[in-house]
Amino acid sequence: RTVYVNGEYLPETEAKVSIFDRGFLMADGVYEVTSVLGGKLIDFEGHSKRLERSLSELQIRKPMENEALLEIHRELVARNGIEDGLIYMQITRGAPGDRDFAFPSDETEPTVVLFTQSKPGLADSPAAKTGIKVISIPDIRWGRRDIKTVQLLYPSMGKMMAKAAGADDAWMVEEGAVTEGTSNNAYIVKGSTIITRQLGKEILHGITRAAVLRFAREAQMKVEERAFTIEEAQAADEAFVTSASTFVMPVVEIDGASVGQGTPGPVATRLREIYLEESRKAGL
Ligand code: PLP
Repeated sequence: RTVYVNGEYLPETEAKVSIFDRGFLMADGVYEVTSVLGGKLIDFEGHSKRLERSLSELQIRKPMENEALLEIHRELVARNGIEDGLIYMQITRGAPGDRDFAFPSDETEPTVVLFTQSKPGLADSPAAKTGIKVISIPDIRWGRRDIKTVQLLYPSMGKMMAKAAGADDAWMVEEGAVTEGTSNNAYIVKGSTIITRQLGKEILHGITRAAVLRFAREAQMKVEERAFTIEEAQAADEAFVTSASTFVMPVVEIDGASVGQGTPGPVATRLREIYLEESRKAGL
């Protein structure tokens, strides 16, 4: 693969960052994941806006304008011949000369790394036809989950816990209510109403979430943004998750209990179709 590091396009084996990089020492960095379908970037604008917000909340200098970031995305898609796949953009506070808790001076350049993952047939994942199983785990992450930081240790542990339990993913629960999935936003459907956690510092403001809710409302579906429990989810007609890498993914089992008929429901299936169709049309 060709990757991008601090102004250069390099073979992945030659790309390097400092051992003093604060991303490595302190998880002092943010990231974005943008999907590519048919060679086009899906929702790039949403991802670059959220990146801007994540950087500003952490007072990390924005390394370049969105136009330049778009150019790098496009260049990597071209150089790696990506038809369907993902692009990761990682930005850290950079590498001062030594380890220190205090933020470094303004002369320290943020570290910018982008790399691609080729995923042929990303939109035709077999899991979308069967649905996935989730378990619930306590949400013990930090209090600013609205910032997309590289602190992914607990989500990574959550996926391992799910795997160990014979499931595919985990939904995190705080004070009795579901916050979100380890790397996706969580939804349930009751009758024709779509229910998903309201925005706040407790969850990541998913770019796919924003698009899916917009399409749902345009299609005259009812949307309620509120907290829900695991019990309410198990008794719901449908459940699903959304993210840039899975789009709309039906959830058919929660903590061993089947949701609805135990197969992907009509609302999730329809939203997946609409999302894929509309976002392909708007791809950059
Ligand atoms: N919630 C968490 C914790 C995530 O890590 C992600 C994506 O990585 C999402 C939600 C979904 O966000 P998006 O739709 O922007 O990919």
